[in-house]
Amino acid sequence: SYRKGGYHAVKIADSFAGGRYIAQKKLGWGEFSTVWLAYDTQSSKYVALKIQKSAPQFAEAALHEIQILSAITKGDPSNTKFVGHLIDHFKHAGPNGQHSCMVLEFLGENLLRLIKYNRYKGLAMTQVREICKCILIALDYLHRELKLIHTDLKLENILLYSTIVPSKDPVRSGTAPVLRRPTASEGTNSNYVLAVNSSEKKLKQKARKAVARISERRGFVEGVGKGGRCLDGIDLRCKVVDFGNACWESKPLAQEIQTRQYRAPEVIVESGYSFPVDMWSFACIAFELATGEMMFTPTAGEGYSEDEDHLALMMELLGKIPRKMTACGARSKDYFNKYGDLKRIRRLKNLSLEKLLVEKYTFSVTDAHEFVGFLCPLLDFDPEKRPTAQQCLQHPWLNISS
Ligand code: ATP
Ligand code: MG
Ligand code: MG
Repeated sequence: SYRKGGYHAVKIADSFAGGRYIAQKKLGWGEFSTVWLAYDTQSSKYVALKIQKSAPQFAEAALHEIQILSAITKGDPSNTKFVGHLIDHFKHAGPNGQHSCMVLEFLGENLLRLIKYNRYKGLAMTQVREICKCILIALDYLHRELKLIHTDLKLENILLYSTIVPSKDPVRSGTAPVLRRPTASEGTNSNYVLAVNSSEKKLKQKARKAVARISERRGFVEGVGKGGRCLDGIDLRCKVVDFGNACWESKPLAQEIQTRQYRAPEVIVESGYSFPVDMWSFACIAFELATGEMMFTPTAGEGYSEDEDHLALMMELLGKIPRKMTACGARSKDYFNKYGDLKRIRRLKNLSLEKLLVEKYTFSVTDAHEFVGFLCPLLDFDPEKRPTAQQCLQHPWLNISS
């Protein structure tokens, strides 16, 4: 893909925007771009530099993303809405053409890596709650204030805060650096602080190395606490990113939106969509964070499609799909007979979400019951009945302390 119209090849220490940004290391890549950690010489901060492929369709997509990111950033001047901000944008000419570049707030690891590092066990309920709150505040902002639908919510598109700050308070001399929650004076922009004795030179050096090592891993404690040990008790805050597929409610972009496993039923039957598609994906994310596994992983089989398997999995877990959707979507007739049953998948299991959580994922009966109370309304087949992000933020489950 490093050819005309494709990616721009970057070397460490390459400079961009007339010398303002200096490339440090590659952070990731996607279908459209490569993303680099860069040093912003103007603000003396690290930023994420997203360098788009150069062909016209990618330039156009970048323009769309920049417009959306600009609105998101402008509407959140105090940066408290848990959405990734745009800092700057410019064009960069290279051997493969002219590349649109976005300068983004530098964030940490995505939530999928977090789940992986936790050995797909699922996170502690308190942490699931913390993350859910961040996502809901972001969604309430996008939906209610901006009238934007994200359309591609999934674990990869939610990034942890990355900043790690050495603590200001001294810890007993001779103790190893420890990770703990930041205090108010240490700033709200970090997931945890490394507490060290700031007066002792040797320890200070050791801590600085440890900070560098952790920073290197961007955001959390892979090297420090394998298996999620050190994640316990850490306030995990995160931001919603990747607005490349976001659209204004009044101007839906594509017919088929969302990544398969997070796709809402109204998208599959094509009965029209709006903000509630994000609420469906959000429920899938909450389940995945709590269990370590995706809620729905449909596959095509003999005589039925991936879409049909997906609908069947939903019906097994959530019951019958209302008439309105089995009859009135543009594709309803492809999947359902006149009784509202699937045409090509006949025998459905009868599962209960609560039982699944207790039996398969070893939740306590109380935890399962409370969590289902939060999740179930979000998984209403009828998008109009799903609670909004604003309503969801009022749910008692978010304020349970354990
Ligand atoms: P996609 O195919 O998912 O649309 P894309 O080309 O639009 O990809 P992004 O998903 O925005 O690119 O970014 C690609 C990767 O770069 C991300 O998965 C993440 O690892 C990293 N990344 C993106 N934005 C940031 C950021 N602000 N801070 C740190 N890393 C980031
Ligand atoms: Mg992405
Ligand atoms: Mg994208």
